[in-house]
Amino acid sequence: MFRAAIVVLLLAFPTTHAGEAPLKVLLVDGQNNHKWQVTSPLLKKALEECGRFVVDVATTPQDKAKMSEFKPEFGRYAAVVSNYNGEMWPQETCRALETYLSGGGGLVIVHAADNAFPKWLEYNRMIGVGGWGGRNEKSGPMIRWRDGQIVRDTTPGPGGGHGANHEYAIDTREPQHPIMAGLPARWMHTSDELYATLRGPAENLTVLATAFSDKAKGGTGEHEPVLMVIGYGKGRVFHTILGHDERSTKCVGFVCTLQRGTEWAATGKVTLPKPDNFPGPDQASVWNPR
Ligand code: ZN
Repeated sequence: MFRAAIVVLLLAFPTTHAGEAPLKVLLVDGQNNHKWQVTSPLLKKALEECGRFVVDVATTPQDKAKMSEFKPEFGRYAAVVSNYNGEMWPQETCRALETYLSGGGGLVIVHAADNAFPKWLEYNRMIGVGGWGGRNEKSGPMIRWRDGQIVRDTTPGPGGGHGANHEYAIDTREPQHPIMAGLPARWMHTSDELYATLRGPAENLTVLATAFSDKAKGGTGEHEPVLMVIGYGKGRVFHTILGHDERSTKCVGFVCTLQRGTEWAATGKVTLPKPDNFPGPDQASVWNPR
């Protein structure tokens, strides 16, 4: 009788996504060498627009002296999305993220979030590879796509770089992965930075997509990873190097892979379909937030 009443209640309050409650996501921001005040609302909008997520935002103090107050409850969320690149968090908060993720949580790393925390070893294991902050060959290898396969490049040098912003094509390398399934083999991204020479432990790392870093644009002449997934204990990480600014974020390909990557980080599955206006190989497709 009691069980039947619950079923009736569930039927009476249908949700937006196939009868499932939206996934709770925590977006973390507050310090960045990028305009996080512009991109964070777009990230929140991009996630909530598809109906699969509800997003809370945890903004760190701007004042270093108050950082000890930053203690978000990661465990209340199906996934944590980081748009943060700033001062170190309190040790308690770092340990909390490690425990949350290794216990089966989900983490999404957006653009300069992979610049953060160069000296936090476990964070570097979560993001797989990162850039700047003194990263170099001691941080780990670069990950490149050469001759049809992923190569770990241990050539000495600094970790992190990019040429001029420009539109560039993104090549799917793992078409069977749930995040990429059904997406085109190649699609054009709106003008963005193309990170290169990222370095890190690169453990349990799978490159989902790469982009050719053209020397004519100040790049490396290598196919650099742009979308990745990383296993951390029982947890899942989706890492996108895309999303430098408003223009870069307003790409249907960026939004779709952010949504799908967040769903995968949260649940290990992807149910979100490819939008009709997903870009093809020759022309970028601009996202107009509803
Ligand atoms: Zn940037």
